[in-house]
Amino acid sequence: MKLEVGSQKSEVGAKSEVIYLDNNATTQVAGEVIEAMLPYLTQYYGNPSSMHTFGGQVARKVKEARENVATLIGAQPTEIVFTSCGSEGDNAAIRAALAALPDKRHIVTTQVEHPAVLNLCKKLEQEGYSITYLSVDRKGQLNLNELKASLHDNTALVSIMCANNETGNIFPIERIGQIVKERGILFHVDAVQGVGKIPLNMKDSTVDFLVMSGHKLHAPKGIGALYIRKGVRFRPFLVGGHQERGRRAGTENVPGIVGMGKAAELAIAHLDEESTRVRALRDRLEQGLLTAIPDCQLNGHHSKRLPNTTNIGFKYVEGEALLLMLDREGICASSGSACTSGSLEPSHVLRAMGLPYTFLHGSLRFSLSRYNSGEQIERVLEVMPTIVERLRSISPFKSEKDEEKGWLKSVSNEQLLTKM
Ligand code: PLP
Repeated sequence: MKLEVGSQKSEVGAKSEVIYLDNNATTQVAGEVIEAMLPYLTQYYGNPSSMHTFGGQVARKVKEARENVATLIGAQPTEIVFTSCGSEGDNAAIRAALAALPDKRHIVTTQVEHPAVLNLCKKLEQEGYSITYLSVDRKGQLNLNELKASLHDNTALVSIMCANNETGNIFPIERIGQIVKERGILFHVDAVQGVGKIPLNMKDSTVDFLVMSGHKLHAPKGIGALYIRKGVRFRPFLVGGHQERGRRAGTENVPGIVGMGKAAELAIAHLDEESTRVRALRDRLEQGLLTAIPDCQLNGHHSKRLPNTTNIGFKYVEGEALLLMLDREGICASSGSACTSGSLEPSHVLRAMGLPYTFLHGSLRFSLSRYNSGEQIERVLEVMPTIVERLRSISPFKSEKDEEKGWLKSVSNEQLLTKM
């Protein structure tokens, strides 16, 4: 069998390969990861819980993967539970924390969490919990005094992400943890975007639960991991068999676990590259766009940020239209907006940052990985100014007054594109 890894051809722009700059959405599975997984889909299909040698071989590989994932975050292997995804990890950790402190009914989180946390919090409100959603400033930073003031005797849990998926902003997890621990409160960190991109070390950490997702670090979809600090009480989210030391029932996703273990090993090896080569590519892209295109700005903090992410607001254009135009060139990026039933919902993260109306609708996220090249970045820099200029030339608004009237609500992407 011949495997072709990472050489996608774009169906849209037949001439070119896909330039994939949407790595915060998901990543290319590393060739080494696929190679590591294959024998566990073909040859070694035993159940790791079985008593026979055939199953035992598989159990040993699961153990090795657990050790690799633990090493990536400076944890003990026994502190790692494999899950199906980041969302499961977030749900399991938050529910477990609340079960451990049943008399406490208050949770603190932020306005910029991923829906995996925010939508669970909404549900918990319906179940009678009170939730404080901490605000962020214009650069997406938290105010730690607001955090301190929000904590009280009834607070069971603080849930704060390590890095934001839309802006890449990094929160000071250890400083937050110290504040939280002084009050004897449990601390959950959604590290889905941080793991593998920045160093994380759970040794002597204040974090009780830390969530990871395989498909964000070049492992496949359908596998994640949850760190549970030794000694922290945990009530399983999935009940059944005794897999994962009774902390998550269900026969293990062995190929996924093996893949995640390999991805963790690779992430350790490539961590320096993230903060040097990937960061340099990101900075080249960011500076190139900000210099070549008038009326655009960086959304988020310029330095306290993941090395792979840039979120840029372009005035007088709509993010979705930009995305569609880039797509025609085989370039994959993302906007914070979700297009639901024809109406555009601006990103809750950018809204929480108090971005003005036009930037709110005209923002794009580019998120890189170690598989991106300098040539790809130059290609984006070549096409973006023309795309923005063309979209602006047909834009039905030019003045602040028109913006205030909410012109965007009346112009669909299709209308914009048919004019191109
Ligand atoms: N948390 C963050 C910060 C994310 O970016 C994501 C996915 O985008 C998730 C949680 C959910 O992860 P998964 O897709 O593995 O469920």
